[in-house]
This record gives sequence, C-alpha cells and structure tokens, in this order.
Amino acid sequence: MDLNFTPDELAFRQEVREFVAQNLPADLRHKVLNGLILSSEDYIRWQKILHAKGWGGPGWRKEFGGPGWTAVQQYIFDEEIAAAGAPRAIPFGLKMVAPVIMQYGSPAQQQRFLPKILSADEWWCQGYSEPGAGSDLASLKTRAVREGDHYIVNGQKTWTTQGQYADWIFCLVRTDTEVKPQRGISFLLIDMKTPGITVRPIITMDGAHEVNEVWFENVKVPVENRIGEENAGWTYAKFLLGHERTNIAGIGIAKRELARLKRIASLEQKNGKPLIRDPLFAARIAQVEIDLTALEITNLRVLSAEAERRAPGPEASILKIKGTEIQQAITELLVQAVGQYALPLRREAMAAGYQGDAVGPFYATPLAANYLNMRKLSIYGGSNEIQKNIISQMILGL
Ligand SMILES: Cc1cc2nc3c(=O)[nH]c(=O)nc-3n(C[C@H](O)[C@H](O)[C@H](O)COP(=O)(O)OP(=O)(O)OC[C@H]3O[C@@H](n4cnc5c(N)ncnc54)[C@H](O)[C@@H]3O)c2cc1C
Repeated sequence: MDLNFTPDELAFRQEVREFVAQNLPADLRHKVLNGLILSSEDYIRWQKILHAKGWGGPGWRKEFGGPGWTAVQQYIFDEEIAAAGAPRAIPFGLKMVAPVIMQYGSPAQQQRFLPKILSADEWWCQGYSEPGAGSDLASLKTRAVREGDHYIVNGQKTWTTQGQYADWIFCLVRTDTEVKPQRGISFLLIDMKTPGITVRPIITMDGAHEVNEVWFENVKVPVENRIGEENAGWTYAKFLLGHERTNIAGIGIAKRELARLKRIASLEQKNGKPLIRDPLFAARIAQVEIDLTALEITNLRVLSAEAERRAPGPEASILKIKGTEIQQAITELLVQAVGQYALPLRREAMAAGYQGDAVGPFYATPLAANYLNMRKLSIYGGSNEIQKNIISQMILGL
C-alpha cells in the first residue's frame, strides 16, 4: 500500500487545477465559497463546461463518454474542484442512476438516457424514500400494476431532493405483494411530465426549498422504462447505494469549509484581536483539522485498496460517519465564529441572509442557514446510526 501520489497523479492534479482556474465562472465561485444558494441553471452551466472538456462524468468509463479515470484521479478531481469553489455535481443522474443504466440497462436505455445525463440536458431525482420507508427501505409501498405494455403507478415518495427541477425520476416500486419485501420491488424510470404526478415542496428548517413530496396517481409508465427484470429491483437499488457512498467522505468540501472558517476567524474583531488567537477557539479548529487529516489518510487507504481491485466495503460507512461529523462540526464553529450575526432564525431573515443582504457582515449572513441545512448529512445516504450498524456487523462481527 503506497499512500503517496505518483508523478502522473501529481501532473493530473496540476492539469485539473489549471483548467478550473481558467474555466470556473467567477460568479459561481463567489456563490460556492460564500455558501450562497445556487440555482439549477448554475449547476447546469458548470456541468456543461465540464462536459465540453470531456470531464462531465468523472466516474464514467470511456465507452459511455466518460474520461475513464481511476478512483484516485476521481478523488483528486473532486478535491481540486471543491477547493476552487466549483458547484458540486448533482449526483442523482451522474452518480446514481447512470451507473445502474450502464450496468443493468438495455442498449436502448443506455443510448436514450446516458448522453443527456452527461450533457445536463435532463435533470434526475431519486424516488426511493417514502413515509414509513427510509432506513427500512424494503417496506416501500408505492404500487406498480402491470396492464399490457404499461405499469400503472400509485403512491407517494418523500424527501425527493430537487424534484422540482427534475425531468425524470428513478423509482423503486412494489410489483409483487405476495413475496418477501425485497423480492417484490422493481426499478422504474419515470418521466416527470407524465399525467398524474404532483410535486409538493417541503420547506426545511433553514427556509430552503430543496426537498419535495412526489405523488403518483394512476401514472402510466411504459414497461420499456423498467431497468432489468421485474421484481429484481432490490439488486439494482443496492448497487446504486454502493455508488452513493463513493467519495461520500466529502474531504474536498470539508477542506474548503475549514479554510473558510480560518479566514473568518482570522478577521480583526472589534477588540482588535482575531478569534483565531483565542487559544480555546484555535484548539477547536485544530481538533477538526486533525480529524480531517486522519480521515484523509483513511480515505487514501480505501482508494489504495480500490486501486488494487478490492471493492470498497463497509469501510465506506466509516468514511460517511466521520466525513459528515467533520462537516457538521465546521458549520458549528462557523456559526460560533460570527457570534450574534448568526442569530436571525426567522424564515424571511434566513432567506434574506442567503442572498447576502441581511444585517451584519456579508460573510456571516448565510452561516446559520448553512448550519441548519448541514444537519441533513447524518440522515441521508443511509443515516449514521445505520452506518454504525453496518460497522458493528461487518467489521466488528457483533
Ligand atoms: C435533506 C434530505 C434529502 C433527502 N433526499 C432524498 C432523495 O432525494 N431521495 C430519497 O429517496 N430519499 C431522500 N432522503 C431520505 C433519506 O434517505 C432518509 O431520510 C433516510 O434514509 C432515513 O429515513 P427516515 O427519514 O424515514 O428515518 P427513519 O428510517 O424513520 O429513522 C429515524 C431514526 O431512527 C434511526 N434508525 C432507524 N432504523 C434504525 C436501526 N435499525 N438501528 C438504529 N437506528 C435506526 C435512524 O438513524 C434515524 O435517526 C433525504 C433525506 C433528507 C433529510
């Protein structure tokens, strides 16, 4: 196991750094580095820039239009674009449904869907969770009944991130109620414009509209939009969840946010002394940085194992827990660093804060909302409690 980057990998890092320096629009960089809200157009614009360079799908194989990078190159790429302040890739198309379509989709599905995911011409969302089916996903109830060459879908999905922008949703639906729950699930690709679909916003505690409820009432879905076999959807769903946890540690983003914390804590205070000179606060920043460095080394060990062709296993759960705890700790310190300017909790104030025009210094206004928003990290992608269960069963053998 060699945790040092090779000369080729270092040259690759330099290439990515130079490309991003020359091609990342200044307004996007400004928004990301200051925690402001990005519009769907912002994400699409950056994806199109990467696509034009041939870097639209960092994890994609060459045969599907990807650059064919190794896991280490993908890690370097993620780290560089995060540090530079580029928007993160919206994962639902690129990192979730695309690998499923590549692995289990028909050639016709591959040709129909993959190019438009890569070029950001179609936006996807994920229809897994339902009220009562989150951690216990296999208990999902959204029903799809076969009628000739269509399924008729009825039910409800929830927490559907960015469903309000989506052209397509990939859904787990129940196609057999008579068997063990895992054996009666199918994986459907559903056009969001189909009659009978209603998207209702859920406003989260930071005032943002990021998640939704999606309702299906007699929605007609062609059988040709099913991935693989009927009732084999659980296999595809688990394959997708494995991809969801790739690079889940978010080290690039945590490093960028740590740098932001240090920038803010280094500013002159009214009493003339920057907060970072306070030994207690400096020690808390140092502790987060130590944890982040340890996580980075652990992540490199996982990548090194992947390079040696060992699939990432339950260690992804360790990365998820530590990575999300660190990101949450940084948002907590950021709020504490700006003191009373992080106080306004009324929705209108937070909405104003997100745009950077509330009372107080510009850099402080989005921090309370960022803090509240980041509580989601330990819930989605498999909650941290569920990750602990995986570690106890698969690593500790309990
Ligand atoms: C901001 C946000 C965005 C999301 N986006 C999407 C999306 O786009 N698409 C989608 O399909 N889903 C999405 N989700 C849903 C997410 O995957 C679920 O919230 C998550 O799986 C947890 O399910 P739940 O909310 O039903 O909580 P529950 O499963 O009801 O869990 C409640 C609590 O009990 C704990 N718990 C549950 N079971 C166990 C157990 N066996 N052992 C120990 N503790 C347990 C959990 O950790 C949690 O703390 C999103 C969630 C959030 C918060």
